[in-house]
This record gives sequence, structure tokens and C-alpha cells, in this order.
Amino acid sequence: MSALLSITDLSVKFATKDGEVTAVDGLSFDLARGRTLAIVGESGSGKSVTSLSVLGLHDPRRTSVSGSIRLDGEELVGATEKKLRSVRGRRVSMIFQDPLTALAPHYTVGEQLSDAYRRHMGASRAAARDRTVEMLTRVGIPQPKLRAQSYPHQFSGGMRQRAMIAMALMCEPDVLIADEPTTALDVTVQAQILDLFKEIQQDLGTAILIITHDLGVVAEVADDVMVMYAGRAVERGTVTKVLQSPRHPYTSGLLGSVPRLDSDPEADLPPIEGFPPDLRNLPPGCLFAPRCRYTHLVGPACEEQRPALDVGGHSAACHLPGSIQLHLHSDQLTARSST
Ligand code: SF4
Repeated sequence: MSALLSITDLSVKFATKDGEVTAVDGLSFDLARGRTLAIVGESGSGKSVTSLSVLGLHDPRRTSVSGSIRLDGEELVGATEKKLRSVRGRRVSMIFQDPLTALAPHYTVGEQLSDAYRRHMGASRAAARDRTVEMLTRVGIPQPKLRAQSYPHQFSGGMRQRAMIAMALMCEPDVLIADEPTTALDVTVQAQILDLFKEIQQDLGTAILIITHDLGVVAEVADDVMVMYAGRAVERGTVTKVLQSPRHPYTSGLLGSVPRLDSDPEADLPPIEGFPPDLRNLPPGCLFAPRCRYTHLVGPACEEQRPALDVGGHSAACHLPGSIQLHLHSDQLTARSST
């Protein structure tokens, strides 16, 4: 399947008063039309920085971006602001965790949706109004004509999220980036929003990049998963492979800290001990080494050599032999059942 969005060796560095922060380091992945890729990791792992890079939303005065971000073959790294503006909203749209950051408080929801459509598509006022009602209907907002005249604060949290999804989809973008789109919502609304993503993808063939720390969301919507740790991809594969047989100790640890239906509700879930490294001063070896409980099976390489991720297939950036990687999850489950 050919890639619609292709990221190669992306690095993003920020200048701070305490030194340079390497937020993303040597990241590569492809996203094809009609597929959903979930990027998973703790906060500070570089997942949101990656999505903002696709939209060219970093402050160029304090950020250096290198590598390649190609949308349908067109290079976005180093593109002019004019070029990036034509991509944002029209070809790549973003849904944020908090809709109030994307919806202006002083304009009605309908005005904001219509304006976005007119700006990007050059549509008439009447066509934009019709499209607004169509999209509000599409995302399940009742009485869409009437509700288009409401201000964002007059919507419930779930309705605001739907309105933001409607805005993101007004121009039928090729790529939809959803950054923690359901974190602030209750479980029922969350399920409705995730169903909506699937429907839209089926209808429009949209490629979806979903950024989340919630493995339940990943299992629900993603085709493929990339796990990030300290700015690097540490594991990549299909959702079934990664969630059922994780090959990297960090992924295994993340899965081990998620409650399962068959878990003892009274038992403590094993947290991953320790903290991610200081991104201003990265050690030479595996960045997960200080938290990893398998280093004794590898030896000095964990501290000395940065492991790389293989291209293609299900792979983990880890020096452990493949035969041991394949048994990490059962080991994790054994550890849990014995606590
Ligand atoms: Fe653990 Fe070593 Fe693998 Fe890193 S390379 S995850 S430290 S076993």
C-alpha cells in the first residue's frame, strides 16, 4: 500500500534556557490512505510534537526540524508558511483534546465551520451554510440548523468535540490527526466518537493518525501502532501483534499496567518504575535502560549502543534476542498473577 504521509528520519529540537531539548529523534513511519496509525507513549514521549510538525505549527525561532515529511510526495519540511497554510485544514486537519482551544468563543459554531469552508474551498456563503448543516448532522448533533447558531460554551463537552470533528472534516482532508481526542469525555461519548471516526474513514478513505496514551482507544480504532519513548519509536507493528505480543520491554510494561477484565480488581497493577531520561542530556545506549528489567539478559550493549528499529513488519528497538522478545508479554502476565 503506498504511503499518503511519509515521515523519514524526523528530528525536532527545541532551544530552551536550560539547553537544547531533543523532542523527536530519527523518527520514520508511513501512513496509507484509509488506515489508522496510533502513536502511543507517556507524556513527553514526542507523540504530540510529531503531529504538530506535520502541520508546521512549531515556532521556527526556537525549533529546528530536520528530516522529511512528505504528503502525497510533497515535502513539508522547510515549506513556506503559505504552502503550510494551504495544507492545514484543507489536506491535513487536527482534532485537539480540548475543543475550546480550536473553537473561538465569540463566534457561533456555524460561523466558524462556514468560515473554514469558505476560506479553504472558496465556496459561497449559501454553500458553506449547507455544508455546515450537513457536517453537524453527520457528526450526530441534533437540530443542526438551530445548533449552528449556538456558541461553543452552549454545547456540552461531547457536543463540542463533535463540532470540532465536524470542523476538521469540513474540507474532507486526506489526513486527520487526532491528539487525545476522547481523553476528556465519558466512556459512552468516547465510544460514539470512536465509532464516528470509523464511519468517516469508511466513507471518505481518510488516513487517521491518532495520538493517545490509552491502549483501549488503540485497540478500538487502530490498524497499526507505533510506541514512542523519549522521542524515539521503540516498537511498531499491527495493532494485533503489538497488543497481543509486544516485543519491547517498555510496551510490555505499558500493557502490564492496564487493567484487564480478568484482573483481580483488588490487586495493584505493576507500574513501570523510574522516569524517562532528561531530553537535554541523552545517554549513549538504550534510553529505556535505567527502567528495564531485562538488561541482565543482554549485558553492556544496553548501556552502550542505541538499538535501532527494523524497517517493516513487527519490530522493536531492543537488543534482546527475538526469541526472548516474543515471550515478554507472557512473562509480564506471570509477574502480575504472582503479585
Ligand atoms: Fe531493555 Fe536493553 Fe532492550 Fe533497552 S535494549 S529495552 S535496556 S533489554
